[in-house]
Amino acid sequence: MQTVQKKIILRYRPSGEIKRDNFQIIEDQVPTAGKGAILVKTRYFSVDPYMRNRMNNVDSYIEPYKVDTVITGNAVGQVVHSESEKYDIDDLVVGIMPWQEYALLDASDVDKIDVDDRISPSAYLGVLGLTGLTAYFGMLDIGQPQKGETVVVTAAAGAVGSVAGQIAKLSGCKVIGITGSDEKVTYLTEEIGFDQAINYKKTPNIRKILRQLCPEKVDIYFDNVGGDISDGVFYWLNNHSRIVLCGQIALYNLNRLSPGPRLYPQFIIHRVKMQGFIVYDYTDQFLIARKQLKEWFIDEKITVRENIVNGFEKIPEAFLGLFSGDNIGKQLVRV
Ligand code: NDP
Repeated sequence: MQTVQKKIILRYRPSGEIKRDNFQIIEDQVPTAGKGAILVKTRYFSVDPYMRNRMNNVDSYIEPYKVDTVITGNAVGQVVHSESEKYDIDDLVVGIMPWQEYALLDASDVDKIDVDDRISPSAYLGVLGLTGLTAYFGMLDIGQPQKGETVVVTAAAGAVGSVAGQIAKLSGCKVIGITGSDEKVTYLTEEIGFDQAINYKKTPNIRKILRQLCPEKVDIYFDNVGGDISDGVFYWLNNHSRIVLCGQIALYNLNRLSPGPRLYPQFIIHRVKMQGFIVYDYTDQFLIARKQLKEWFIDEKITVRENIVNGFEKIPEAFLGLFSGDNIGKQLVRV
């Protein structure tokens, strides 16, 4: 086994748009596991938009990353040395791990992945992981979809959006996706069953196109993006509609937000309910939700794509790609 490994640290905090230069790859010794610990060879890393917010030194639901310190995030690893009775060599585990080739972990901080030929371990970072769970709770608990309703999802071809839209379809809704390329429009409508999709980069007037695509108006807006796209949707909300405030990726790289809110009169007129949430609010229900997502996935009621980049050094680029829309489905890095 190698004795020296690569790690990725936050070199300095981004100001505005995140750049490759904000990260640095350094070398360090591979640690050894003491009692109760496991040493894991990292296999798949998840890169996620929330990490951009952790790079700012701001108060949030989660600690900011520290400068000159290794970035951490969700990953899948394979046990190479175990000082814990819970794990054997070669077991696969999922949990928060440092961006390192090898991770020294407390055995109680990760979960074992049950090997199943029908499911790649990487699914535990996507449809069976936090993004799938986010789609599940956001759509079902906050959106409360009813048969025959109309749902709009933004970042619709991404990890959360693609699953959220398919859950709305399973609930009997008409689903319209908003996304950033023609290829993604085709993916949504021809591969995963969305009724309609809009390429927002070619459609500046979201309100106008929604008027054409859904004269009945929007009952649930699953918002992953925020900004001008959301303003367009807000103009076309139905009475008693719900806004699932999941993410605001269009704002994460901005130093200063434009003054607002501007469109709240629409919410009053149409008695709109808007609720933000963090997936960890539902931790006590993860097991039951994962069981349902697994069933849908195995029965092909929900299909997903993974956008896999190969190579540890590619983690920063894969992360940056989230902000330029490089991914269809869950963005992962395979080591
Ligand atoms: P995605 O797989 O959806 O990747 C991000 C996508 O966002 C890109 O592919 C791109 O697609 C789109 N995007 C990027 N910049 C912009 C922009 N300026 N305007 C419009 N679209 C943009 O990521 P996730 O599925 O992991 O996350 C989706 C959202 O869900 C994020 O906002 C994230 O913060 C949020 N989230 C919230 C959680 C919670 O607990 N509340 C948990 C997990 C995620 P396109 O080509 O369409 O532009």
